[in-house]
Amino acid sequence: MTKILLLGGTAEARALAEVLITAGLDVTSSLAGRIADPRLPVGDVRIGGFGGIEGLRMELADYAAVVDATHPFARNISANAVAACTADGVPLLRLERPGWAARASTSWHWVDSHDDAAATAAKLGRRPFLTVGRQEMDRFIPDLRHHSVLARVVQTPETPLPATWRLLTSRGPYALPDELHLMRDHHTDVLITKDSGGEHTWPKMAAAESLGVPVVVVRRPARAPGVPTVHDVAEAAAWVHDLARVSG
Ligand code: NAP
Repeated sequence: MTKILLLGGTAEARALAEVLITAGLDVTSSLAGRIADPRLPVGDVRIGGFGGIEGLRMELADYAAVVDATHPFARNISANAVAACTADGVPLLRLERPGWAARASTSWHWVDSHDDAAATAAKLGRRPFLTVGRQEMDRFIPDLRHHSVLARVVQTPETPLPATWRLLTSRGPYALPDELHLMRDHHTDVLITKDSGGEHTWPKMAAAESLGVPVVVVRRPARAPGVPTVHDVAEAAAWVHDLARVSG
């Protein structure tokens, strides 16, 4: 049977694993192992890095194809997947949820990096709501050390945060009434986010719009050209089914 390696860590990856496994395909989902209690997809799961491109190439010996459904900001693993699959002629599909650019508001400030996001937010407000995730948090400390930051993360960061910051640990999806309540309660005057895209974290953007709060949006990193890319789970499932049919 065609064996598929599904690089995950996203809601789309979990949804795709479910669709493919329900259809009787042999899928192993791969997680980075960053979160202590990750949401697990159905089916076989392996956890932890592969050990760079060479480690991934060794793993690929067991698979007929790879679907990279990792987060739009997970740049390294995607680059490694391109390098490893290209080197070994393994078919690779990128599943990436659409970004939010098509829904942009005039009160959004687009920036190219987290450092630019910190500098821009520092000028726009005194009470930022920081939602970029634990890994990038350090980069906001120099510019926002004296701001009253509400920082929302899935898992507590290792770096100590400034005394003026309040940490909120929670995991989406989020609902609009809760986001409105949270932002009103904190008196948020600027929201900082990545262009994660999708619906799970969209309500904070709708809440910001409704409250007249400006938003600093970090653009997605560039992607390697030439990788077939789809934007929803159904299209990704169709690609895998076609591949399974051809390889018998
Ligand atoms: P990254 O910078 O692209 O990856 C760093 C290293 O972690 C990779 O080189 C790889 O280690 C390992 N890795 C990442 N994803 C993996 C996977 N699915 N399976 C096995 N190893 C993986 O990624 P990141 O930004 O740290 O994100 C880590 C994971 O969290 C991703 O799987 C992503 O889908 C998920 N996630 C990320 C974000 C975000 O904002 N970055 C948000 C939500 C979820 P080796 O080189 O040793 O193979």
